[in-house]
Amino acid sequence: MKTVVSLILSLLCVNLTFSQEIFKRTLKLMGSRFEITVVATDSIEANGYINLAINEITRIEKLISSWDPASQTSEINRNAGIKPVKVDEELYNLIARAVEISKLTDGAFDISFASMDKIWKFDGSMTEMPSEEAIKQSVAKVGYKNIILDPENLTVLLKLEGMKLGFGAIGKGYAADKAKKLLMEKGVSSGIINASGDMNTWGKQPSGDFWKVAITNPMDKNKAFATLAIDESAVVTSGNYEKYVAFNNVRYTHIIDPRTGYPATGIISATVFAPKAEIADALATSIFVMGKDVGIDFINQLPKIECIVIDEKGEIFTSKNIDIETFKN
Ligand code: ADP
Ligand code: MG
Repeated sequence: MKTVVSLILSLLCVNLTFSQEIFKRTLKLMGSRFEITVVATDSIEANGYINLAINEITRIEKLISSWDPASQTSEINRNAGIKPVKVDEELYNLIARAVEISKLTDGAFDISFASMDKIWKFDGSMTEMPSEEAIKQSVAKVGYKNIILDPENLTVLLKLEGMKLGFGAIGKGYAADKAKKLLMEKGVSSGIINASGDMNTWGKQPSGDFWKVAITNPMDKNKAFATLAIDESAVVTSGNYEKYVAFNNVRYTHIIDPRTGYPATGIISATVFAPKAEIADALATSIFVMGKDVGIDFINQLPKIECIVIDEKGEIFTSKNIDIETFKN
């Protein structure tokens, strides 16, 4: 009897030591809903890892937030048209990469879009369409060519007074990449960082299956449009169904064409697959501005990057290596 009991106990122990489970936590970070998933042996271990990811994302938020007056980004913005500001290498490099994406997208993506947030507000406070004159004035302050970078001194100067940087279209992707990298370094074998639909995964589920992620249906945001199996990569969706204003039955989304000052139209959802969430995030936003045809053409020229675009009629279009039938629920 004793041997049987101890055998069962030792079997249980083996089981407890080696069985891996999925642990999740959802919380608000960077003004958005984050869901952090890790595979671990018990909840104590999992909570430790999730806390590390939260600290990392909070650290990044403090560096890049343009709302927080204490951030280095706010310091750059305050000194627009005045003087260069010395920043951490991490922020400098993020800005330099963002400027490269602006060049690549011909200015469709532009982190200096932020002065337009005085004109377009997506918090319910707008009561009427901004005047053409106001839009024209705001756009005069936008332009990545006026972000002056000094790689030797790690300084950033915004050339024009009133210019402003904002990382709304790239920051969540960057944070997802960094949190993933940190957890991998700490030995977490598998997980998902989901920053409001900006997702980066690594490893597999304890069952041996790939992680499956759902993409929101832009026609009904409580439903999934597709569920995808993801292998070690990032998926990011930009949609016009979360932040927008409507005047005369026209929906104006929170993604703005930096060249005209008007919100992008025609697309209601753009999903980008890429090795990293940062580039996927920036490109999903860019596709909105470029429009369906130019956007998909552009993605087709980039290696290891694919996209799914849904236009305002609900029609689905994809880049050349995607077979949409395999994705449908
Ligand atoms: P979401 O925040 O819904 O994930 P995006 O990643 O597309 O969506 O980012 C949209 C945000 O990016 C906007 O709220 C704004 O802060 C910023 N933004 C808007 N237009 C542009 C643009 N053309 N280039 C860079 N950033 C932009
Ligand atoms: Mg984006």
